[in-house]
Amino acid sequence: MSAGVATTLGELKSSGYTPSRGVRQELRDNVLARLARGEALLDGLAGYQETVLPTLATALVAGHDTVLLGERGQAKSRIARQLATLLDPLVPAVEGCEIHDNPFFPVCAFCREKAETLGDALPVVWITPEERYVEKLATPDTTVADLVGEIDPIRVAEGRYLADEKTIHFGLLPRANRGIFVINELPELAERLQVALLSAMEERDIQIRGHVIRLPLDLFVVATANPEDYTNRGRIITPLKDRFGTQVRTHYPADTVAELAVVEKEAAVPPLPAVTVPPYVAKIVAELTRLARLDSRINQKSGVSVRFTIDNYETVCANAVRRAAIQQEESPAVRICDIWALRSSMAGKLELDGWQAEGEDAVMDTLVDSAIFSVFQQMIPESEWDRLLAPFVSASLAIECGEQIPPGTYMESAALLDNPQGWLPPFAGRQMSAGEVSAMVEFLLEGLYLARKLSRATVSSGSTYRR
Ligand SMILES: [Zn+2]
Repeated sequence: MSAGVATTLGELKSSGYTPSRGVRQELRDNVLARLARGEALLDGLAGYQETVLPTLATALVAGHDTVLLGERGQAKSRIARQLATLLDPLVPAVEGCEIHDNPFFPVCAFCREKAETLGDALPVVWITPEERYVEKLATPDTTVADLVGEIDPIRVAEGRYLADEKTIHFGLLPRANRGIFVINELPELAERLQVALLSAMEERDIQIRGHVIRLPLDLFVVATANPEDYTNRGRIITPLKDRFGTQVRTHYPADTVAELAVVEKEAAVPPLPAVTVPPYVAKIVAELTRLARLDSRINQKSGVSVRFTIDNYETVCANAVRRAAIQQEESPAVRICDIWALRSSMAGKLELDGWQAEGEDAVMDTLVDSAIFSVFQQMIPESEWDRLLAPFVSASLAIECGEQIPPGTYMESAALLDNPQGWLPPFAGRQMSAGEVSAMVEFLLEGLYLARKLSRATVSSGSTYRR
């Protein structure tokens, strides 16, 4: 008889089902099997395959309760959630048990009693990984009732004594029995709750309103925390800290290429009309995040989330689509005027460090300018700038750019520049769409402006670039 079929303890026994490995052994077995098949430990965690995941795999093999330390937006909660994929697809539990008791070794009072009365007729259900995964965001007002449980007044009214275990309505920790319990932002948890968590992790007992109940829970515990909060003296009680066998340090993508790999997986780009994102524009979006993570005006202890990059990417695409709808443009490409749309949208997502004399808008503006210029320098070597400038010098050229200027006008502007199709390597050898040409013109002109080679005047329709 295979998993998921038996409906009683007797059937389970005769099917030859292995009584219990415990959740740690189960995770260990499944991790090793997955690695032996050459599969990634967890899916979709771009940038972590060489760093975070091997450490995590070792922690799981060691059976260590684990703390994931990292700044915001480093996929800590996602890693935790994905751990559920390492559990068995189905395991048997006593029917109706709030804490998913193992039919072979029930620990709650109800099931112990039932097992004694019913013997092999004890009813069994099969539970999924989702049912065995419990997650809680720690906040200062998290209570013992939330985490451990509370005395149920109805059960007391039914005539049970307060000290009777059956009067208890179980909280999240016992409900994670035989599964994974994740506590996000552990340092926010009050000290007495940290004590309760520790006690549960040591498979000892749970305490509710002074009643101590022996309840050996089978839990794999994962906590997440900001490193600064976690290491600050006094935020985490020492024995709890000691109990976490492994600390896994998460990180931001190592470079803009890795950052964009995450964005490609995550960003939801408006489907219609199909918008092209020129490679240098994607690079600017990633560069913006990279520079923000180095900027002393931004609070680096809090961090700059990968979500920041993803949101920005979605915003520039959406802006291009909006613009194209108004212009009835068929093949829009994201361009510099869409990047400028970020100045307003990204303001609330960065935490400025203290008081900034120049104000939030100015910080955003300089970041956007630096990102554009940085990518311009990477794409167009300085030795080429003069060649690019030549038409402006010889013909005292002025080119207008802006949201409302149609692609046709950009095509005319591009023709005035010397061999525009040849400037940007990714386009060499194929015909650019009108949208891509528009994007290229804006990028080259804005780059030259930021290089102080061209001037830029703001006009009603956008900007005019000239020598
Ligand atoms: Zn039970």
